[in-house]
Amino acid sequence: MKDELKEILISEEEIQNKARELGSEISEQYKEAFPLFVGVLKGALPFMAELIKHVDVHLELDFMDVSSYGNAMVSTGEVKIIKDLNTSVEGRDVLIVEDIIDSGLTLKYLIELFHYRKAKSVKVVTLLDKPDGRKVDLVPDMSGFTVPDAFVVGFGLDYAERYRNLPYIGVLKPEIYEG
Ligand code: 5GP
Ligand code: MG
Ligand code: MG
Repeated sequence: MKDELKEILISEEEIQNKARELGSEISEQYKEAFPLFVGVLKGALPFMAELIKHVDVHLELDFMDVSSYGNAMVSTGEVKIIKDLNTSVEGRDVLIVEDIIDSGLTLKYLIELFHYRKAKSVKVVTLLDKPDGRKVDLVPDMSGFTVPDAFVVGFGLDYAERYRNLPYIGVLKPEIYEG
């Protein structure tokens, strides 16, 4: 798989170190709470797994699957719930765990949904932020790395469902998605 990448942007070790940093920051922020971590499937799964190892407070996990992309690389702007939470967010301190924020449309939708469902607080931690892709005004509360406006894969991020299992983040060679 590695030979299908043009370059590696973020190594496995850098991701692990960042997860540790973010984990302690989160532990500090939720000291008095019992937060509900909401992972956005499927991309946030590896980051969620790495992050929670370093969070030193009691927490609850849940997952949501939303779609705005299909297998395309450009956002359609539509957000569709594929799988909803099993847990009620009412009165809860919700932390949304994301793989990457690009246009911000997915997160804007989720944040508004959780406020509408009467969450006590809603915050966002993302592994990657791509600020150049933004279509709505949205700044994550915590972010691991800023990436350039390129299509990245690995550590949960897919291209047509592949590459999620790479332990690092990279950029595909153009010939891979040009066919
Ligand atoms: P947004 O709604 O912020 O535009 O993007 C949300 C989702 O689009 C992300 O959670 C991710 O699943 C997908 N996405 C955005 N940018 C990239 C990218 O560079 N690579 C991959 N693989 N997925 C991306
Ligand atoms: Mg995502
Ligand atoms: Mg995807």
